[in-house]
Amino acid sequence: MNYNVENQKIELDGSIEVVIKREDLIHPFISGNKYRKLKYNLIRAKEIGATSLLTFGGAFSNHIAAVAFAGKSYGFRTIGVIRGNELETMQVLNPTLTFAKSCGMEFKFVSRAAYRQKTSQDFINLLRTEFGEFYLVPEGGTNNLAIKGCEEILVKEDYHYDFICCAVGTGGTISGLINNSKSHQKILGFPALKGDFLQQDICKFANQNNWKLITDYHFGGYGKIKPELISFINKFKRNHNIPLDPVYTGKMMFGIFDLINKGFFSKNSKILAIHTGGLQGVTGMNEMLKRKGQPLIEI
Ligand SMILES: *Cc1c(COP(=O)(O)O)cnc(C)c1O
Repeated sequence: MNYNVENQKIELDGSIEVVIKREDLIHPFISGNKYRKLKYNLIRAKEIGATSLLTFGGAFSNHIAAVAFAGKSYGFRTIGVIRGNELETMQVLNPTLTFAKSCGMEFKFVSRAAYRQKTSQDFINLLRTEFGEFYLVPEGGTNNLAIKGCEEILVKEDYHYDFICCAVGTGGTISGLINNSKSHQKILGFPALKGDFLQQDICKFANQNNWKLITDYHFGGYGKIKPELISFINKFKRNHNIPLDPVYTGKMMFGIFDLINKGFFSKNSKILAIHTGGLQGVTGMNEMLKRKGQPLIEI
């Protein structure tokens, strides 16, 4: 893994500085933050002698791809419990699941109703009956060890930024950023979904209150996209030569630019935006957009 990710400044008119931390460059298939979230979980799993990892995710999940790859790299059997049992009969797996399978991941497809039971002890016991002992990694990878890994995203060169921005799914990444930020910094989270529960979830993990969720840029919900988001992502790539994904980082960056235009940030603000990766999902998203006859994400 290449942990020497760079901070890359983007050229903008005006006094506000925007710098992007290229966590996406850690690995082409393992989104930056997913790898950080797994790091200490993998160490713990080895310590306790686990040989299998079991986790949960949707068919396009960056987390599923990351766990599959980590299992292959570090010698764990991996089991992915995938939301949507209609996928079982799919003739061709989508690019995310194709990659996960090529890493050796076994799948269990479950209905959306069953998937909602993913934290219930009964459901987990059933999974143990079916697959034997495993180290359980929660959906999205978020737990205390994941947050410890995400605390390593910020380094001392980053403490002069006024704002640190990141996309939010389960809130693990932003919690790590908050815990390792300086109190003069403000951490802005851009949820990629409509999640009223997020505020509370983050409070469980975060040990400072220098943060805020900006809830205006989820574009209708998780995985939902609009042509204006696609055209923003394509324009951003052409202007700055940095690819964004449509589920997380595209929405965050759209939000940052919109807030700059609306005067949210004061003059001379320095903003560090975390590129959490997610690019493995773009091919699958494009297949879907193509079927719907919508404009594609340029890759
Ligand atoms: C999973 C993911 C996030 C969200 O991270 P959380 O810790 O769940 O909030 C953000 N960006 C990308 C690219 C992701 O894959």
